[in-house]
Amino acid sequence: MISSAVASVLSADMLRVIDVPTPYLVTDLDTVADRYAAFTTALPGVRAHYAMKCNSSPEILRTLADAGAGFEISSIAELRMLQAQGVDPAGVLYSHPVKAPGMIAAAAGAGLFRFAFDSPGELAKIAENAPGAACYVRLRVDDSTSVFPAGNKFGTDLDEAYDLMLLARRMGLRPYGVTFHVGSQCQSTGAWRSAIRQAGALLERLLDEGIELTMLDLGGGFPARYGAGEPSIEQLGEVVEQEIALLPYRPALLTAEPGRFLVAEASVLAAKVIGRELRGTEHWLYVEVGAYHGLMEPMQSPGGWDYPMSSSVAEHAEQPTLPFTIAGPSGHATDVVGYAIPLPAGLTVGDVLYFGSAGAYTLAYASNFNGFAPPTPVFVGGVR
Ligand SMILES: *Cc1c(COP(=O)(O)O)cnc(C)c1O
Repeated sequence: MISSAVASVLSADMLRVIDVPTPYLVTDLDTVADRYAAFTTALPGVRAHYAMKCNSSPEILRTLADAGAGFEISSIAELRMLQAQGVDPAGVLYSHPVKAPGMIAAAAGAGLFRFAFDSPGELAKIAENAPGAACYVRLRVDDSTSVFPAGNKFGTDLDEAYDLMLLARRMGLRPYGVTFHVGSQCQSTGAWRSAIRQAGALLERLLDEGIELTMLDLGGGFPARYGAGEPSIEQLGEVVEQEIALLPYRPALLTAEPGRFLVAEASVLAAKVIGRELRGTEHWLYVEVGAYHGLMEPMQSPGGWDYPMSSSVAEHAEQPTLPFTIAGPSGHATDVVGYAIPLPAGLTVGDVLYFGSAGAYTLAYASNFNGFAPPTPVFVGGVR
């Protein structure tokens, strides 16, 4: 329950002196820079394009841009946010495989030239709105070992990817690369192993047509530390290196799109307990932040979700725990974020709960639902 992952990034002492009313999300920008450095060290030669949908705070974008990261977007508004930070659109990847035509045109107008696709329909939109653009195909790969599978929404199989690349060339587009997404918070190195092999098979087949792809993009899914058991970035780096060496050729540009990995561990979410009730035999805690104010992911993952948690009350660390059901502040029945979460028996109204590793996919989902304000972003360390 009281996790060292929380303590290592933002210590209890440090959290206690943050003078901001709860709820807040405090982010240590030095940890963001550190995670980026860890990524590039573990995957030398792979350029990291931050998937900004998981946390688009300008402070984080600045920190990563200053550290040398590239970026990956899904919308024109995201591109505009990057431009506001001085990022050159020519270095940005537009990896969403289904884009609104107007957004393709606007991105191309700004100088962005690389677009993902997974269908003939998307190729037609790109050809019309960004003639001559560089295109990279999204493969559907095994995502079963991730906490949040990418599912069937995107991606195409090897045969169709091959046909689509030839179609892209006939449409005057530039067959540029191949990408995939193994699913978010992927738990196995084998997922990247088999995905890179699939990409390799496409490289091989396209050689017969005289097409050599420039970019292999390893996508996202690199796991952050929440509890335990995630493969380390070093282990993933080894597997990637082994598999790259087995490709028919080494594409000139190796990229990846880490989102969660770069930012999750940098933040702690602080929320007050606003109610404690015993309903039947179930201990309920109502807290200021629920599914609609930042803790959406516990609701999305069938197996629940383990943010490392602690309490602001030092004596709680010595107390026995009780299994709590944790609910958000809103009146909506679905606003329940955890069941049987072991927390100190003495927790009471007014105590603050800290949710560790809360930098990814929290604030990005937060709304004012039911009149409850989302957590206030707070930044420490780094550039601000
Ligand atoms: C969301 C997304 C990512 C980032 O995924 P993480 O699991 O956060 O690393 C990368 N690429 C694309 C295309 C995405 O949509």
